[in-house]
Amino acid sequence: MLATATIEKNAYDVALENFDLAADALGLEDGLRAMIKYPERVLQVSIPVRLDSGKIVRFEGYRVQHNTTRGPAKGGIRFHPNVTADEVKALATWMTWKCAVVNIPFGGGKGGVTCNPKALSLGELERMTRRYASAILPLIGPEKDIPAPDVYTTPQVMAWIMDTYSMNKGYPVHGVVTGKPVSLGGSLGRNEATGRGVFYTTQSSAEHLKIPVKDARVVVQGFGNAGSIAANLFHQAGARVIAASDTRGAIWNAKGLDVPAAMAFKDRTGSLAGFPGAEKITPAELLALECEILVPAALESTITADNAASIHTRIIAEAANGPVTPEADRILDQKGVFLIPDILCNAGGVTVSYFEWVQDENHLFWDEQDVNRQLEKVMTRAFADTLKIYLERKATMRLAANMLGVSRVAEAARVRGLYP
Ligand code: NAD
Repeated sequence: MLATATIEKNAYDVALENFDLAADALGLEDGLRAMIKYPERVLQVSIPVRLDSGKIVRFEGYRVQHNTTRGPAKGGIRFHPNVTADEVKALATWMTWKCAVVNIPFGGGKGGVTCNPKALSLGELERMTRRYASAILPLIGPEKDIPAPDVYTTPQVMAWIMDTYSMNKGYPVHGVVTGKPVSLGGSLGRNEATGRGVFYTTQSSAEHLKIPVKDARVVVQGFGNAGSIAANLFHQAGARVIAASDTRGAIWNAKGLDVPAAMAFKDRTGSLAGFPGAEKITPAELLALECEILVPAALESTITADNAASIHTRIIAEAANGPVTPEADRILDQKGVFLIPDILCNAGGVTVSYFEWVQDENHLFWDEQDVNRQLEKVMTRAFADTLKIYLERKATMRLAANMLGVSRVAEAARVRGLYP
């Protein structure tokens, strides 16, 4: 199996290649490319942690600031066994273009710890988080670099980071992280924001393609924060979510899953596996289902040259970061699949993170309706800006979004000039 699988590039190589394609299409001069292509800062930290047993173990952690031309670095923190320096650099690079695509005044950053948080007790997780936060403390702050949740990090993890930072400063600093619990200066609507943005951009795509969302068949790979919330919004809009998956398996019901019941089941049992009212299928079968909307909402590189040909959908909504590899992109493009690229599709999370930061800095909080209304406005405008380039330049949607993001950062770099 491994011997026949296509060898694909790592995520950071993909990020650099996508930058080059956008810069070429924009005709960007070499000097500006040199100024904005690579990470400004890469910090690698060692995180020793005392386990409940008394034993001390060590984890590796990272914080990367890719670009701060348009504002403070912004990007999540991932706790996962597969975290590497290159993965964090790729995710930080995508954050730069993503913040520019939705036109919020932030640059791109990302953090991660190579660990399996599911194998840690709550106390061990707290000690690891606080030690990691202390180690990256010189880089972060509300005016320079603002972390947020990503895979396997939660509002509770953000609260520990906010507390660690504040104790070191000697006063409370709410704006140092977003995605906090609402009781600690978090924003209403932040938890749902990524899934909501996925829904809005898919709705705009369906309108453009003249596909009714009502009764559309939706398949969701990865039923976590981004995937399950998006699934529920499609369900509420009258679409049929016919299949969903998580790390433990995939489920299918041609008539449509009862999404709220599936969410409650996963909350209760930790997985979708065994959900009543659905049949078990394999992850490969899930991707090959005929549908109108496919939402990859798990991790990078789940759709590759090995499985792209078997996909039968009209729209792919990239809720995850980097789920489709460049080789798969080419295959899907030839099949006429309309792809909503990650830096547009999942930008709802960082957009409401920006709203949270604005609320924290102003000590004035908005109600959820205002948050959702502003989010819809930002996502709809970003979609329209990307679609305009897609249509005018006959580009792919990924190239169009990268061109939009890169051009906005390049323009800001041009007017700031090169220091010294
Ligand atoms: P999460 O931890 O809440 O959920 C991830 C889900 O994916 C889990 O249900 C897990 O079981 C499942 N999963 C993992 N590997 C899988 C596989 N191979 N097949 C099927 N399911 C698998 O994480 P999340 O916050 O929802 O993030 C998911 C993706 O969305 C990531 O790529 C993340 O970077 C991206 N994203 C999240 C946000 C956000 O605000 N949460 C914002 C932007 C982008």
